[in-house]
This record gives sequence, structure tokens and C-alpha cells, in this order.
Amino acid sequence: MRALVLEEKGRLSLRDIDLPARPGPDDVRIRIHTVGICGSDVHYYTHGKIGPFVVREPMVLGHEAAGEVIETGSSVTHLAVGDRVCMEPGIPDPISRASKLGIYNVDPAVRFWATPPVHGCLTPEVIHPARFTYRLPDQVSYAEGAMVEPFAIGMQAALRAKIKPGDVAVVCGAGPIGMMVALAALAGGCARAIVSDFSAPKLDIIGAYDGIQTVNLAQSDMQTAVSAATDGWGADVVFECSGAASAILGAPKLACPGGTLVMVGMPVDPVPMDIVEMQARELRVETVFRYANVYDRAINLIASGKVDLKPLISATLPFAESIAAFDRAVEQRPSDVKLQIRVADVR
Ligand code: ZN
Repeated sequence: MRALVLEEKGRLSLRDIDLPARPGPDDVRIRIHTVGICGSDVHYYTHGKIGPFVVREPMVLGHEAAGEVIETGSSVTHLAVGDRVCMEPGIPDPISRASKLGIYNVDPAVRFWATPPVHGCLTPEVIHPARFTYRLPDQVSYAEGAMVEPFAIGMQAALRAKIKPGDVAVVCGAGPIGMMVALAALAGGCARAIVSDFSAPKLDIIGAYDGIQTVNLAQSDMQTAVSAATDGWGADVVFECSGAASAILGAPKLACPGGTLVMVGMPVDPVPMDIVEMQARELRVETVFRYANVYDRAINLIASGKVDLKPLISATLPFAESIAAFDRAVEQRPSDVKLQIRVADVR
């Protein structure tokens, strides 16, 4: 089957590759419609690795997908041929200790699309466990369905933060994940979110949403801005989504006494943290790794219209132009948030 294959660091090809042919009893076969390009896909393309995960043999990219069920395994009851679905890309060992605890995202045995050595979903058909396949309501498009995966990280961050109604959030970093976190924080009960970045075009995009205040770090100091916006008290929840060392070091100072610091961004190398600043405010620190048990809630919010992810889809390119789409993602155009690839036209 044709697929977008990362042959090795820096080299993509769109070619035929052998992929599993028949669904098992608990699987479904899905015709892929839309796939979003993630920063991790781009990082594997440009660097050939993320932390301990190294691309050692050709790997199909892509993990943010929506499509249509075209075949069901014999034991599958909750999905039918023709269902429009999105898929959770990380499959844990179902009987692992982490799975039993409900924290399957941190199961050491998890197999995640487009994380070496597991193939991703930038291919016309995939076979996937039905229990990690979620039906999309009619009003949720395939394009939005492919946004559920990155939005799920925002959902996980909002849940880990234990937001209380009326909280003020700070979100450091207006990349795609920072934007998802800000929208999930608002949906989760925050009265407003103060989002910082150096990129004016990105801040313009997220600043167009109700409840978002933006701070351009090229012009303003974040601590001063947060202080001014909170009568000197600080934010109830600070979501660090930039992964930048300077932002991580400064993040505790943005939180109010007794507040919460949620680490979402992933620095490439170990970075220093200001422990005393955290202690002096008795901050609660939470970390986020992917997500668990949030897809249904994420789809509910999108379907209800409470969360509109469509403005974050910057461009959609056809499957035949996948390599060009990745090269555009590498460019990191300031006004690009999410690029998507339309793999097939179904319904
Ligand atoms: Zn992703």
C-alpha cells in the first residue's frame, strides 16, 4: 500500500510498503481521510529521533487521523462499516499494570503511531483496535476529527490542572499545543487565559478567541503582564507549553500562591527549574505525557460547538503532495498552526 515513508533522517518518499492486511477480531479497517502533521512527525523528519526513539528503518509517518470504517473484526460491536471515526494513536498492553490503573498513556509497552519502530497512518488504509477508535458525530468533520489528537493533549493538561470555575490560566507558548491547551482550559472552566509567545501571527490567531488575552514577549515582560492582569496575585494555573528553558525557569513566578504549574512542553535537553520559587508559593506541579481517557470528552466539546478548532487548520494538501506538506511544515511559517493532508475522498 502507498504510504508517506520516512526512509531515514531528512529523506521522505511516497511509495508502496507492506502493511498488515486483515483486521483481527477486535480490530477495524479504516479508510484514512485526513491526517494532521504534528511537530513530532516533523522532528523525526529533520532529526531522525526524539529522545530515546531513533528512526533505524523506514517508518510511515502520521498519527493525527480521521477516516471511515470499511471493515470490522468479528468481535467488534460498537462500530459499523460506514462510521466516520477518529483514532487514538497509542495502543497500550491491555493487561499491563498501567492499563489497569487507567494511566495507559504511561504504559512502558505502549505502541504509538509513527514512533519508532511503529508505522503511522499516512497511508490510505489502516487496521486499528476498535477500542481506540471513536465515532464522530455528523457535525464533526474529518478535518476536525484529525484535530482530536492534538486537542486531547490540551484536554489532558486541563484535567491534570484540576481547574476550578473562574480560574485564570497562563499559557506559555502559542504553538499548536499551547493553543489547544488554552482552548481546553477555557472549556474546562477558566474565566480567561493569558497566552504568551514571540510570534505575532500566532498570537493573532489564538487572540481571536473569546477569553484569550495575548502577550507578545518581543514587546512585553510576561511577569509584568500577568501581574497587571491579576491585580498582582498571579495565575491560578500556569501551563508551560513552550519547552523553552527561559520560560520554564520563569514559569513559577507567574503562578499565584497555592497555584498550579503544569509542564506540557518538552525541552530537548534537561533544563534548570527554580525550586525555591515553587516552594515559596507552595505550587502543585503536574506533568503531561500524551493523554488517557479524554477522547470522548474532546469529541463532545467539539461536537457541542464549545470548542472550535477549525481556525487552527492553516492548510490542507492532497496526499500526492505529502512531501511538499512536510517541507512546508519544516519552514515553520509564522501563520501556520496545523497543516493537514487529505489522504482520500470518502463521502
Ligand atoms: Zn500529534
